[in-house]
Amino acid sequence: MSSFCLHAHFFQSPRGNPFADIFGEDFIGHEPGAEPYENWNEKITAECYLPNAELGNFELASFDVGGPLLRWMERNAPNTYSHIFDSHQRHVEKHDSSNALAVPSHHTILPLARKRDKAAQVIWGIESFKYRYGRAPLGMWLPEMAVDLETLQVLHELGIQFTILSETQVSGAHDGGPYWVKLPGGDRIAVFVRDEQLSNQIAFNIQTLGGAGRWAREVLASRRRQTGRLGAGLTLLAVEGETFGHHHPGEEHFLHWLLSYEADSIGLAVTTLERYLRDNPPQTEVTIKEYTSWSCTHGLGRYVAGCACTPGDSHWKGALRRALDNLSNNVDDLYVQIAQDAHLDPWKLRNNYVSVTLGQVEANQFLKNEGLQDDSLAERLTKLLAASYFRQRMYVSGTFKHDDLARVESRYAIANGLRAALLVADVTGDDLVPAFRRDLAQAVSTRTNLTGADYLDQIQHSSNPPEGSKTFGSV
Ligand SMILES: [Zn+2]
Repeated sequence: MSSFCLHAHFFQSPRGNPFADIFGEDFIGHEPGAEPYENWNEKITAECYLPNAELGNFELASFDVGGPLLRWMERNAPNTYSHIFDSHQRHVEKHDSSNALAVPSHHTILPLARKRDKAAQVIWGIESFKYRYGRAPLGMWLPEMAVDLETLQVLHELGIQFTILSETQVSGAHDGGPYWVKLPGGDRIAVFVRDEQLSNQIAFNIQTLGGAGRWAREVLASRRRQTGRLGAGLTLLAVEGETFGHHHPGEEHFLHWLLSYEADSIGLAVTTLERYLRDNPPQTEVTIKEYTSWSCTHGLGRYVAGCACTPGDSHWKGALRRALDNLSNNVDDLYVQIAQDAHLDPWKLRNNYVSVTLGQVEANQFLKNEGLQDDSLAERLTKLLAASYFRQRMYVSGTFKHDDLARVESRYAIANGLRAALLVADVTGDDLVPAFRRDLAQAVSTRTNLTGADYLDQIQHSSNPPEGSKTFGSV
């Protein structure tokens, strides 16, 4: 029997004030345009996350929810949050497999990160998944589906068995797979391949399809016949979860009917990926096209130096990335020095630090558990680890995804950089801010004519708010 799976990727860029709460991504405050709601996360929760949860779509679909959004939801939309995990639990009990994928902690474009940063993002994502879903993940969603072999190698080394890519990112696929991808170390990892044409129909034109029943009978059924292999194989769609209810109001019902009734009525068995992989291990191999993603057709240009994916002058992207990279290297150098003074492995320590950010252990106890002997180094290590966390957070995909530096996502990255630099200065006396400002001056907003250095100054003047009372505003 042929099978059908729909994967929904739910995500919101973190905003808010990194000075308001030690790790908080949960204080967004007021955002214009989201009325009558306080901000966009609240609006999208009401339009999409909650209705999908209430319809049981988190039990039927394959899904992932980005870390910043889950952290926000846990505190700000606890009802929706618990609905999602109840649905997941029902799926697990019914099928003895999870329908959720883990996500790298800060939704970083992994092929653009150094290997040790890839590992940190993946480990933090895996540990967060275990904490929230109560089991180890077998699959991981790659932010923006951005891929290179080193990223897949890291996933494999950390126990991840599969991910999802798009048709144009692989050679040799004829349906949803899964397929093997050979890794540089000689091992292999499973990759599912989404049907791009059908996914895009759902993502962009769902309201013109005449409902889930008609679409299933007229499009999905004939697509199955075209792809051959009659009587077997997987058709996989993967789209943004916000498609259902937010981008397209009311279409959470499309998703519900498609997965609960219509796919089955044309002879497709609705499945999810962990379960499908268990019953249908890969038989053949595909090769991937490195440095590709689902949201940019110019390599990864959209997230590096700018490309035609965003309108206007995008030179600010390259300049901002250089500023963030230089700051990161400076933070890392100082951190490594202190970790080595403490006779601790800096990268293992940083990877394990996720237990502190998840609130599982308090920082001093964590350092003791990791073998810190010299108590006089505890405060310095604690603050440098926090700085390492904030500097990781600068690289969330949204920092570079949009058209202008003036947007809240890019300014949020600068704010996290400043927070990291001030933490470092506090314990080492090294002031990284002047060099950060110098680099940021090269990034210019065409919308406001202000530079990254101007935004840094604005943030510095509005920071240190009393208990989460301020945001960095929005444009
Ligand atoms: Zn592009």
